[in-house]
Formats: sequence, structure tokens, C-alpha cells
Amino acid sequence: MDTRRDFLQKLSLGIGATALTDLPASARELYSGPKADKQLRVALMGLGSYATRVAEAMKDCKMATLVGAVSGTPSKLETWKQKYNIPEKNTYNYETVGKIKDNPDIDIVYVTTPNSLHHKHVLQIAAAGKHVICEKPVADNAKQTREMIAACKKAGVKFYIGYRMHFEPHTRELIRMREAGELGKIMHVNNYMGFKSGDPNQWRLKKALAGGGAMMDVGIYALNGARYATGEEPIWVTAQETKTDPVKFKEVDETIMFQLGFPSGIMASCGTTYAFNNYERLYVVGEKGFVELSPAFGYGPIKGRTHLGPMNQPVVTHQTLQMDGIADIILNNKPDPNVTGEEGLKDMIVVDAVYESIRKGGAKIMLAGK
Ligand code: NDP
Repeated sequence: MDTRRDFLQKLSLGIGATALTDLPASARELYSGPKADKQLRVALMGLGSYATRVAEAMKDCKMATLVGAVSGTPSKLETWKQKYNIPEKNTYNYETVGKIKDNPDIDIVYVTTPNSLHHKHVLQIAAAGKHVICEKPVADNAKQTREMIAACKKAGVKFYIGYRMHFEPHTRELIRMREAGELGKIMHVNNYMGFKSGDPNQWRLKKALAGGGAMMDVGIYALNGARYATGEEPIWVTAQETKTDPVKFKEVDETIMFQLGFPSGIMASCGTTYAFNNYERLYVVGEKGFVELSPAFGYGPIKGRTHLGPMNQPVVTHQTLQMDGIADIILNNKPDPNVTGEEGLKDMIVVDAVYESIRKGGAKIMLAGK
């Protein structure tokens, strides 16, 4: 039921009309008409499970069209050509992808490869002169992220991170309420995101491909959420790590608790894990009210309540809104949202500090100058 069709049906019935004001302006316009004349032409790079999810979601997009694919697996390219009507001339492997610069029919490449390949792949795409969206976590660390930002700047291309929550209606409403002062002065944030990791042989448990464990993969949601829940940038970090299964999580972190201090004096208390399920919540409390989203960061449906009662935002496919939102920003020259490479860098600086704090036995890491 997590479909745009349900959303449109609600709209045509007049249900959720007020919720429309909660959507980004771009989405508001997009969902009221047919497919736009101008389309952002997208190629996906790394045809795994998330790329498939994005491809399916893009079927409902109004301003973004899937036109290309990059893969190291020839059989996948064959399947994708048939399934998504992708012409042969718009398909590449990781060795030939540089030739994408000579292809005028592709505007942007969405990198959905394992974490530690993001740096290399974003540099390749920037060198080919194409805009790029990169999945989270943007890279292994802040140093790599700075190099990616610099490469995109030098090439004159846009660089976005796949932070889909910034397009999600409950999250938009939380940010709107906070910015409008409806929560009063923000006093505390308590966010966590985790799940029980399965296959012990998957790349997510290999440091060389994942960069890190739960913190890199889903702790980033709790961290990014603390930034949009407070509207502040953290100035210090402390963190603690524990492992209940040191064999399975030999190379990467399993469970991390981290605390962020903000300039106003408030703290965010956050957690992440690969060891158990039912661990997904954003809670921000201010002097006048609160917002609790739970689940808060997964594919949804996102659910929420505030001091005023249950939230009633529409349930939509995040990736459809995200891709239409980014298309609208690029094609119509709209201001960049909070999903740029620079936003990814702000998170990676904190992730670096989380690991530094753990290495130093939970020491307080000041972020100034990092
Ligand atoms: P998968 O393993 O399902 O897919 C990754 C794909 O990358 C592979 O199928 C493969 O595609 C390609 N690839 C290239 N080199 C390698 C390699 N050495 N080892 C493994 N795969 C390789 O991963 P996911 O799709 O789950 O995750 C991909 C990225 O998306 C990650 O960065 C992850 O954090 C992010 N993600 C984001 C989510 C979100 O909600 N925003 C949710 C899930 C993931 P091919 O055969 O075509 O080359």
C-alpha cells in the first residue's frame, strides 16, 4: 500500500488535502499533473537490491526517467534492458563507464554500489561530466567526502546524497513544526536506528567494502535525524561500542551509542545496532511540544505523533518523491535542499568523531576544525 497511487486516490477523494502543504513545493506541484515535458534522465550504477527499489519507485515519477544502467554483471544488464526499456547504448560496466561523457541522453548517475566504492565511483562520474546522486553513507570518511565534493565542483556537476527522508511527508512536517516554533525551544533528541543483520558473508560485514558497520549503514539516520530535528550542528561527540557477537562482527561495529552536544547546550542521545530488531525511532522534545516518529527512517509507512495527537501525513514511496524532488531542483534551478554532498560531509565528520571517541575509550571529541 506504500504507493503513489494510494496517495493520488486519497487526493482525488479530498483526503489529506491539508497534508499537501506538508510536502516539498516540488512534490506538491508534481503530484497534480501528468508526466512533465522536461525529464531528468537517470542511470543507476550497481544493480543490487536498492537500485531495484529505486527503479521500481521511478515508474511513478513525473519528472525523472530511468534511461541507463551501469553494472559489473552482464546478465543483469540484459534483464534491466528488457524490464525497464533501457537501450543498449545506455548500458555500461565499471570499466567503460567513463564513456558516459559522450552520451547526451544521460543527465545523472545514481551510485548504489557498496559504501567503500562510492568514492571511486563518484569520482568516475564527475570526471565524465554527469551530475551524481550517491547513496548513504557518502564515503568511508570525511577526507574521501571532501575529495568527492571537490571533484564535482571542479567538473561543474551537482552532487547529492540519497537522503530520502528529507522528501518524506512526516519528516517534512517535523522540520516545518520545528522551524515554525511550534515545538518551542528544542530541549532534547533521542534517536535510534538498527536491525538484526543476517547473512554473515554479506559485504556489509566486510570493512573493505562497508567502511564500518551499523554506524555507517543505519546509525547515519539517527545522526542526520538529530541534525534536522534540532536545526543545529553538533560541536562535540562521545561514543561507546559493544559487541554481543564478536565473531560475526569481527571487522565492523555491531552496536554503538553516541551522544551529540549542540551549541544551544542541548544533547542528542543516539544509538545504532546490527544485533536486534524493533529499534527505530526519532524523538524530539521542545519546551512547547514534541514529535515522535516510529518507525522513523525505514521505507515506512512512517508513523508519528505529536503533542497535538497522531500525525496524518500521506504514505508515499520515498524514492519516488526523492527522485522527482531532485529532478525538479536540477531541471527548474531550484535551491539545493539538505541532501547535498556538503550535508553528507557534515555527517561524515561526526561519524569520524564517533569512531575516534570509541578508539579513545569514549573521550569527548570536539568538532571545531575537523
Ligand atoms: P547490494 O549488495 O544489494 O547491491 C550492491 C550492488 O553493487 C551489487 O549488486 C553489484 O551490482 C554492485 N557491486 C559492485 N562491486 C561490488 C562488490 N565488490 N561487491 C558487491 N557488490 C558490488 O547492496 P544494496 O543495494 O543493499 O546497497 C547499495 C548501497 O545502497 C549501499 O551504499 C547502501 O548503504 C545503500 N542503501 C541505501 C538505502 C536507503 O534507504 N537509502 C537502503 C539500502 C541500501 P552489479 O552486479 O550490477 O555490479
